[in-house]
Amino acid sequence: MNYIVFDLEWNQSPDGKEAEHPLLPFEIIEIGAQKLDEQLVPVDAFHAIIKPTIYRKLHPCTREVIGITEKELKQGKPFDEVGRDFLNFCGKECTFATWGPMDLTELQRNLYFFQLDNPLPFPLFYCDVQKLFSLAFEDGKTRRSLEHAVEVLELPLTETFHRADHDALYTARILKLIQPELIKSHFSVDYYRTPNSKKEELHLHYPDYYKYVSRKFTGREEAMADKTVTALRCNVCGRALRKKIRWFSGNNRVFYALAECPEHGYVKGKLRMKKSDGNTVFVVKTVKMTDAAGADKIRGIQEEMRKKRKERAERSEN
Ligand SMILES: [Zn+2]
Repeated sequence: MNYIVFDLEWNQSPDGKEAEHPLLPFEIIEIGAQKLDEQLVPVDAFHAIIKPTIYRKLHPCTREVIGITEKELKQGKPFDEVGRDFLNFCGKECTFATWGPMDLTELQRNLYFFQLDNPLPFPLFYCDVQKLFSLAFEDGKTRRSLEHAVEVLELPLTETFHRADHDALYTARILKLIQPELIKSHFSVDYYRTPNSKKEELHLHYPDYYKYVSRKFTGREEAMADKTVTALRCNVCGRALRKKIRWFSGNNRVFYALAECPEHGYVKGKLRMKKSDGNTVFVVKTVKMTDAAGADKIRGIQEEMRKKRKERAERSEN
C-alpha cells in the first residue's frame, strides 16, 4: 500500500461570484504528488499543469500567489487527460494524504464535472496532514498554513510555496515526521460523497472520540427528529444515555448536548449540520468523554446562546 501525498492549485472566476459556474467554483490548474511507500519513503512523483476551459483568465489572488502565467496554462494538458494520468499514477489501492480536507473534495468535483469516473472508494479515509500536524506538534485544534508548519519544524526551504509539486513535497516531508501510530489512529473521512442510506451511515470509533456521519435529510427539522442523529452513548460502555442538556443551538448549524454515564462520567456531543447536494443536509456528530469542567463549559455555551436569543428577541420587538 502506497501513500499518495498530493496538492492542487485551482483557479476561480476572475469576474466575481456572479460569473462563476455553479457546478465548478474551483477549476484545477495544477496537480503535484509524491508517492511514498509504507515507510513513508518517496518512490515516485507526479506533476502536471492543466489547460483551463472554464476560467481561462487567472483570478487576481491566484495570479498573485501561484506564479504560473496564463501562457504556461495554455501549454498545459486538458483535465480529462491529466485526471486519468493522475488516477493511474495513484494505482488501485492507495492512501491519500493532503494538507486540509479541500483538495480531495475539489479533485472529485473536477472529476465529476469533466465526466471522468470517480474510482475512489466509499467511505474515503485519508490523512489530513494539517490536522495530524496540529495533533502531533500543536494544540490539536488549530489549523495552520503549510508555511507555518515548515517553519515550526525547521524544514529546509528548498522550494517556493503555492506550486502543487512543491507543496506536495513539503506535505510529504511533514507526514514523515509524524508518529505512525498517530497517523493510523486519526484517519479523516472525506465528505464530498456522503451516505445515501441508513445502511451507509458512518459510525467511526477513534481513541478519544466517536464520529457519526448521517445520510441526507430534507432539512434541519427532519435531521433533528431522527433518533440515531440525536442519540448520545457512552464512548466507554456504549450504553444509551438520557441527556442532562438536550441539543441546543445558537446559529442552527452547530448543536451541543450533554449526558452522564453513571459509570464513566460526562459525555458531550457536538453536532454540525452540513449542506449536501440539492438543498439537502447531512449531520456530522462527534461524541467525547469529558469531566466536570467540560460539562460546565457546555452549560456556559447554553447560557450565552440564551442571552443572545433574548437580545435578538428584544431587538426585534423594538
Ligand atoms: Zn459508560
